[in-house]
Amino acid sequence: MGSGEVMKTNYHTHTSRCKHAYGSEEDYIQSAIKAGITELGFSDHTPWPFKTANFEPRMRMKMNEYQDYLDTLQNLKEKYKDQISIRIGLECEYYEEYIDWLKNEIDTHLDFVLFGNHYAYPDDITPIAPYMGNCVKDKDSLEIYVQSSLKAIESGLFSCFAHPDLFMRCYPVFDEHCIKAAHRLSEACAKHHLPMELNLSAFAALRKYSDSLYPSKPFYEIAKSHGCKVLIGWDAHCPDVLEDAELYQMALDWIEEIGLHQIEKI
Ligand SMILES: [Zn+2]
Ligand SMILES: [Zn+2]
Repeated sequence: MGSGEVMKTNYHTHTSRCKHAYGSEEDYIQSAIKAGITELGFSDHTPWPFKTANFEPRMRMKMNEYQDYLDTLQNLKEKYKDQISIRIGLECEYYEEYIDWLKNEIDTHLDFVLFGNHYAYPDDITPIAPYMGNCVKDKDSLEIYVQSSLKAIESGLFSCFAHPDLFMRCYPVFDEHCIKAAHRLSEACAKHHLPMELNLSAFAALRKYSDSLYPSKPFYEIAKSHGCKVLIGWDAHCPDVLEDAELYQMALDWIEEIGLHQIEKI
């Protein structure tokens, strides 16, 4: 690898088990190989051992699909070992009542876990819990996002904070409260050595709507001021997005413009 050349990796890959992603695991692997990705991490939306009887999650795999997720990826890890490194992970919220289950999985079955703050409370408690990317619109909802994120960052369980600027998906303008939130999150990530993701599905939104406030450049400027490290993640919900070199380049351009410290491996 020449100097200045970055190794292409991706640790944010979903599977159809979450009910809003498409394609087989093998399709994602084939696309990753075509794209020159040398390490591919799967991190589908985690199941949780919900206490509510018969609860059917809407946007994550069910617990009875989890073993098949692990087995399928373990087989593919072996099958493709000469072509690409496969890592097995999950994308998780931080739910105190269920976190012992996750800790045990990290110790026994998983290579890594991403923190993605989609919902502040478990889905079975608030089945129509508003998605953070839609409900954070003012200082009070932003505070819920920050508080729940800080708990996860401080837990030390996670390898990367996925789409940390998700709160800007519907927030009207990057105001004084957002500035404060960005400083609090960045300070905690820097302290706990948790890299932040530059999320390419957010960049896809920006490519489509050039006035999109998500991804948030001022957020990453504040992250940079705290010395936070960033990792590019595709957040792939379909295989061929991994071959979208233009999106990847958009993130590389931000890294250069803002002066962010990029890491490639977790
Ligand atoms: Zn998803
Ligand atoms: Zn996510």
